[in-house]
Amino acid sequence: MIELTPRQVLDHLVGFPTVSRGSNLDLIDWLEGYLASHDIASHRHWNEDRTKAALFAHVGPWEAGGVVLSGHSDVVPVDGQAWSSDPWVVTERGGRLYGRGTCDMKGYVAQSVWALVRAHKQGVSRPLQLALSYDEELGCTGAPPMIAAMQGVLPQASAAVIGEPSGMKLIHGHKGGTGYHVHVKGFEVHSSLLPYGVSAIMEGARLIAWVNAKNAEIQARPASAVAATFYPPFTTLHVGMIAGGTAHNITAGDCTFAVEMRVVPGEDIDALAAEFETEAARLDAALKAVRPEAGVHLEKFFGVPGLKPEIDGAAEHLVRQLTGDNSTGVVSYGTEAGQFQEAGYSAVVCGPGDIAQAHQVDEYLELSEWDAGLRFMQGLLKELA
Ligand SMILES: [Zn+2]
Repeated sequence: MIELTPRQVLDHLVGFPTVSRGSNLDLIDWLEGYLASHDIASHRHWNEDRTKAALFAHVGPWEAGGVVLSGHSDVVPVDGQAWSSDPWVVTERGGRLYGRGTCDMKGYVAQSVWALVRAHKQGVSRPLQLALSYDEELGCTGAPPMIAAMQGVLPQASAAVIGEPSGMKLIHGHKGGTGYHVHVKGFEVHSSLLPYGVSAIMEGARLIAWVNAKNAEIQARPASAVAATFYPPFTTLHVGMIAGGTAHNITAGDCTFAVEMRVVPGEDIDALAAEFETEAARLDAALKAVRPEAGVHLEKFFGVPGLKPEIDGAAEHLVRQLTGDNSTGVVSYGTEAGQFQEAGYSAVVCGPGDIAQAHQVDEYLELSEWDAGLRFMQGLLKELA
């Protein structure tokens, strides 16, 4: 296949509607074929039921110490959104590239693919790698197995640049987090007989009260130096979505809600999660003492490590040099960068676009951002030459 321009690669990538709930294999098949047509071998890491795959590749000398450009292949749905143009076709108007994923984050991926092929053709003295995950939008669950597989096959890169939209600013820290779906099982009786039943709503409220108390406790503490760089400057716990009960005069048989925790990097996510689990176990025992059928069931639905600002990190050094950005940025949402860092890579976030456009109807990438991303890739190619 002829060598495509970055924009042509983007057209291909956006054309695959890789919504997280479906398969991404059409995109992976295409990309694998495209890279193979330029004599670049890539490797797949399959999910358990082989409906999705991550893809990674290496060009340049077969040695450690390279740079890995990393992104996710999946996008969020367009259901119920009234788009002005086909979300699966890149449409340029008014200095913007419209299309689902142009910003989050197929724009960066397209430029990375282009850079990989260029690096292979021009030759580089330091390796360049590409890593493309799946299920990022479902809570960053696809990257850890991909990274593990990569480490088994490729020489370890020293710097990872995760191209989530940051306006090409350097992001060297983000919060980590975890989340639970909570199901409180009650026991239905007429509300006049309250003590002989279990109201799942009223008991679930005890756990929610614990969440509120924990927030108050955390916020009463002085912020650490790392925490102080965040907005807000502390770990937060949140309850979103609650459902339960069938009538005003029946003790609720079920109450479900979701708890998420966004944790400042360096603070112990597992310890906080364990405190919550202990509280839930205590409530579970109390409910079972009233009615053995009652209880509390937790299902962890995501867990993402934070990204800790590194002292003199290789990734930060590289991105500063290429973008000229000397500011230090942190964000309060999670990315795969924390997972790369946890696996031993120096990692930062830097990519074209504004996170405010991610997941929106008429998602777009400013052409000025697209150009800034390309300049980054051109600079990188020079740096690696
Ligand atoms: Zn993203």
